[in-house]
Amino acid sequence: MKLRLLSLYPDQMNIYADRGNILFLQQRCEWRGIGFEVTRCGPGDRFDPGAFDLLYMGGGQDRDQKAVARDLVETKREAMREAKDSGAAILAVCGGYQLLGEHYELDGEKIEGLGLVDLRTVREEGPRLIGPVSIAVRLDGSERILAGFENHGGRTRLGETTPLGRVLHGHGNNGQDGHEGVREDNLVGTYLHGPLLPKNAWLADHLIAAALEHHHGERPELEPLDDRLEDAAHEAALAAARNG
Ligand code: GLN
Repeated sequence: MKLRLLSLYPDQMNIYADRGNILFLQQRCEWRGIGFEVTRCGPGDRFDPGAFDLLYMGGGQDRDQKAVARDLVETKREAMREAKDSGAAILAVCGGYQLLGEHYELDGEKIEGLGLVDLRTVREEGPRLIGPVSIAVRLDGSERILAGFENHGGRTRLGETTPLGRVLHGHGNNGQDGHEGVREDNLVGTYLHGPLLPKNAWLADHLIAAALEHHHGERPELEPLDDRLEDAAHEAALAAARNG
């Protein structure tokens, strides 16, 4: 078995070392004897939507987002849609998450997004939404907790789509409606940053299983790993969120 990951704008969209999530996915695959291939896709590059099982885009400052948004729309929009429609897994974090939507509006300017999911982001009056966060996510009939850290000025509102989770602690999409992130089929968008996957190994495995199913046509039973360190990281993140 092999997982083929496409890393979108690894140099431009990597705030808080969001790229570390890729290393975590790779390590978990290698420990299980599953092949793992990373292809970088930067400005100007086009990609074959049938050739990847997991598409990853990290976060970025407003200026990084402006720099990649037009390129994303011009050279990657169709392929992104095809990949999503074919059931490829997509994980987009913070700035990358915002660009999945219709637009990101700031300082009277509208940065056009991919329009892949029905959401909009606006930089409104008010402070940045910063701090530890935890959310409850319903997955395969049970409730799981994601814990992490958020730091965004944009406020995201969802249209005809579903949030990734319900905010337990922290701000979430906009600090008002109690929603965090977005989830549609195998697409996940979230404001949770940096070591999101190392702190939430279950989400990493969920994405790995979805990606392998996309490649091989069957959802594999993933071998359990020794997750003592990951569980401790999760507990620490959760405690930080509880304590505000
Ligand atoms: N520039 C975006 C915002 O502040 C996203 C920031 C980020 O990726 N941390 O809303």
